[in-house]
Amino acid sequence: MLADYAVRVEDTRGRRYPEPQHSYRNEFQRDRDRVIHSRAFRRLEAKTQVFTRRYSDHFRNRLTHTFEVAQIARTIAGQLDLNVDLVEALALVHDVGHPPFGHAGERALDAAMRAHNSFFDHNLHALRIVEDFEMRYAAFRGLNLTFEVREGIVKHSRDYSADQYPDLSEYLLALRPPLEAQLIDLADEIAYDTADLDDGYEAHLLTWEEMGGGIPVFAGLFAEAERSWPDVAEKLQFNEALKSLLDHLVGDLIGNTKAQVSATGVRSLEGVRKCPRRLVTFSPAVDRERRQIKDFLHRELYLSKALDPDKEDAERVITEMFNFWMVKPENLPSSYREKATQEPLARVVCDYIAGMTDNFILEQYQKYAL
Ligand code: MG
Repeated sequence: MLADYAVRVEDTRGRRYPEPQHSYRNEFQRDRDRVIHSRAFRRLEAKTQVFTRRYSDHFRNRLTHTFEVAQIARTIAGQLDLNVDLVEALALVHDVGHPPFGHAGERALDAAMRAHNSFFDHNLHALRIVEDFEMRYAAFRGLNLTFEVREGIVKHSRDYSADQYPDLSEYLLALRPPLEAQLIDLADEIAYDTADLDDGYEAHLLTWEEMGGGIPVFAGLFAEAERSWPDVAEKLQFNEALKSLLDHLVGDLIGNTKAQVSATGVRSLEGVRKCPRRLVTFSPAVDRERRQIKDFLHRELYLSKALDPDKEDAERVITEMFNFWMVKPENLPSSYREKATQEPLARVVCDYIAGMTDNFILEQYQKYAL
C-alpha cells in the first residue's frame, strides 16, 4: 500500500527511448537492476569511502557503504509507505560518479578542473554516466533510466538553479523532488555517520572517551549499553550503543517526516513537489545531535593527521595524472582521444579519471613513472 504522496510506477514520466514493458518487473525494479549490472556500480568496490585499504579490508568502501544506505533507505521508505523500488534504485546509484580516493580525490579533481574554468560535480557526473558512458544496450547509449531515477540522481542531495544549469531544465528544478529522492541524502548521512564512528573506533583513531565527550547522545546510549551488558567486551557495548544510535536517527527521521507531511497537509506527489521546503527532515533536537556527530567526525576523523598521508597521495596522484594527460593526450585510450575532438580536453580527462578505481589510477601513476 503506497501513501497518497508516493511515486507510483504506473505514473512514471518514462524513459528517453521507449521500451516494451517487462513481463514481471516494473520500471523502477528494472532501473534498480540496470544500476546493479552497470560497470560504474561494480567499480564502487575499489573506491575509497573514508579509509583506504591500508587500514583494513573489512572497513567500508563505496560499494559496501552503498548497500548500507540502501538498507536504511528501504526501511525508511517502507515506514512512510513510499515506493521502495524507486528508493532502492536511487540508493544504489547515489554514489556512482565519485572519483577515486574519496573526498580528497573529489576535491583534487574539482581543483584541477577549476584551473580550466570548469568544475567537477558528482551528481552531474553520475547523470552523464547513466545517460551516456555506460554502453550495455544495442539501441541506445547509457542505461535509459526512467525520469524519476534521473531526477533523483540530480536532486537527491542539493537543489540546482535553472538559471545556472539550463541543461537540467527537464528535471523540474523549481520543484522539490519526491520524498523517495529526499530521503536518500539523509539515509546516506545516517549510514556514513554511524559507519565512520565504527571504522574510526576500529582503526584506533577514535577512542571511546573522545566519542562520549564529543557526542552526548552517544555517551547516553553507551552508558545504557554498559548497564545492559556489564560483562561483555567494550567493542560489543560499543556495537550495541552504535546500533541504538542508528535506530534513534532512523526512528526520528521517520516520525518527524510523518509529522511534517501531516502538518503541511500534503496529500499528493504534486503537493510534495510544490511544497516550498523538503519534508524529509529530522526533528530540531535530533538535528542538533546529528550536527554534533558530523562536527565531531570532521574534527576528530576526517581532518585527523592520521589520514593526511592518504589525502596527500590522493591529491598528488590525481593532480599529476590530470596534468599529464592534458599535456600528453596521445596517452589517453583511443575512445577518449576521439571524444576530445568533440569536447574540451579537460572535460574528457576529468571523465576518464572520475571513472577510475583507486587501484587503476595508482597503476597509471606507476606506469608513467610520475
Ligand atoms: Mg554516500
